[in-house]
Amino acid sequence: MTITYTAFFFIIGLVLGSFYNVVGLRVPKKKSIVFPGSHCTSCKRQLTALELVPVVSYILLRGKCRICKVRISPIYMIMELFTGLLFAFSYWWLGLSLELFVALLFISLLIIITVSDIAYMLIPDKILLFFLPLLIIGRVLSPLQPWWDSLLGAAVGFGLLLLIAVVSKGGMGGGDIKLFFLLGLVLGTINTLLTLFLAAAIGMIVGIVQLKIRKKDRKTPIPFGPSIALAAIIIYFYGTQMMEWYMRLF
Ligand SMILES: [Zn+2]
Repeated sequence: MTITYTAFFFIIGLVLGSFYNVVGLRVPKKKSIVFPGSHCTSCKRQLTALELVPVVSYILLRGKCRICKVRISPIYMIMELFTGLLFAFSYWWLGLSLELFVALLFISLLIIITVSDIAYMLIPDKILLFFLPLLIIGRVLSPLQPWWDSLLGAAVGFGLLLLIAVVSKGGMGGGDIKLFFLLGLVLGTINTLLTLFLAAAIGMIVGIVQLKIRKKDRKTPIPFGPSIALAAIIIYFYGTQMMEWYMRLF
C-alpha cells in the first residue's frame, strides 16, 4: 500500500511541478496561468497533449521543440522531477498526516519561487501572499512545539534578513526577506537560522562554480532564491537531526 501511495504522490508531484513551472514563469510577467495553453516560446506553436507529459516528453524529444528544434532548458524538467521526488519523499517520511499538508505546500512554494528567481531574479509578492494564509492554516492544524515557535521564527527570519539587507546595502533582495518570514512560520526559530547558514554556504559554492564555469565577472548577480529553497527543504526534513548531532559534539 505504501508503494502505491508513494507512486501516487510522485505522479501528483510531476504534474503539479509542470504547472509550477508555468506559474513561476508567468506570474512575474502578470500573464494568466491558464490561457493561453503552454506553447513553444520560439515558434509560438501550441504544445500538444503528448508534449505536455512531465519529464517523459522532454526526454523523448531530446530537449528540443518537435517542430522548430529550438533547445529547451532542462531546468523545467529538473523542477518537475524534483517536485515529484519531494512529494513522494514527504509521504514516505510523514505518512498521511496534517504535517504532510504543510510539507506539500512548503515544497510547492519553494519550487515556484525557484523557477521565478532563476528566470527573472525575482520572488513575486503574489506567490508569497498566496501561500501565506495556506501555510498559517497548515501550522494551526499541525503546530510546531511550542506553537509560538512559528511566530518567533517568522519574526527572527524576517528581522535578520532585513538587518542583513540594511548592513549589506541591498545585498539581499526584498523577496528573500519576505520569503524568510514564511520559512520562519513553517520551520520555527532554530531551523530558520540553520536554513540561513546552509543557504549562505550553498550560495557561496554556487557562486564559485559559476565563476569558474561561466567566467562571469563578480558583479553579475546570482539569484539567492534557489539556494534558500534547497537549504529550507534539507533543514525541514533533517534540521532537528543535524542539531542533535551537532549538540552531541560538546
Ligand atoms: Zn518551437
